[in-house]
Amino acid sequence: MTLYKNAALKKFALIVAAGSGSRMGGDLPKQFLLVNGKAVLWYTLHTFLHAYEDMQVILVLHEQYLEAGKTIVQSLDAEDRVVITTGGETRFHSVKNGLQFVQQPSIVFVHDAVRFLVSERLIHACYEEAVKHGNAVPSVRPVDSLRMEMDDGNKMLDRNKVHLIQTPQTFSSDLIWKAFQQEYHASFTDEATVVESTGVKINLIEGETNNMKITRPADLQLAEQIIKGLDGSEQS
Ligand code: C5P
Repeated sequence: MTLYKNAALKKFALIVAAGSGSRMGGDLPKQFLLVNGKAVLWYTLHTFLHAYEDMQVILVLHEQYLEAGKTIVQSLDAEDRVVITTGGETRFHSVKNGLQFVQQPSIVFVHDAVRFLVSERLIHACYEEAVKHGNAVPSVRPVDSLRMEMDDGNKMLDRNKVHLIQTPQTFSSDLIWKAFQQEYHASFTDEATVVESTGVKINLIEGETNNMKITRPADLQLAEQIIKGLDGSEQS
């Protein structure tokens, strides 16, 4: 593992937005739904572009939505900082497509487009930790009690030992690049699983409860309320 000391590294936000988002029920993928007049993806891009002035964005879209994505990037006046590419069959393949635009050495933030309430504070924390330890993966504790299915019923899980994983999952470019040279495996549900399979220990850091993945219509309504409650200067 390469550790970088006291060096301001290049930064690439690889925003994955190539999923169909069918759980929302509508035709439009959830990253294009409007919240207080702006697309979910607009907020995500806005936050990453503002987190660091040298942040470059790699936006991975389904080919059907390339134009829609381009329009959002233009509305942010960020064409010179955002590269748009197409996704693949799974999240793994979409990330792999995006990685070809990453320059080394750098820090790579892989982020779900639909986690649009991510804060600049969390992006900064991920960067600092990834520089120190090679990777940083934000997580939160479950608030509900947990039970696991067993062959003969179910049993409780100690929720103090369980972490719910969020994004941006953040890595030094050499680690993530090497990990994505592997063949795809069905167990690769996120980047941490891919990198971990190369023998790297995953460095969990504290995530944020607001950094939720928009999945159901009720999540969008909640997000609207949260954005209204935020300082207007942060999202204008
Ligand atoms: O499917 P899941 O909800 O885990 O998707 C997480 C993120 O990965 C979403 O932002 C989605 O758009 C993205 N994705 C992708 N390419 C795929 C599948 C999912 O970019 N083939």
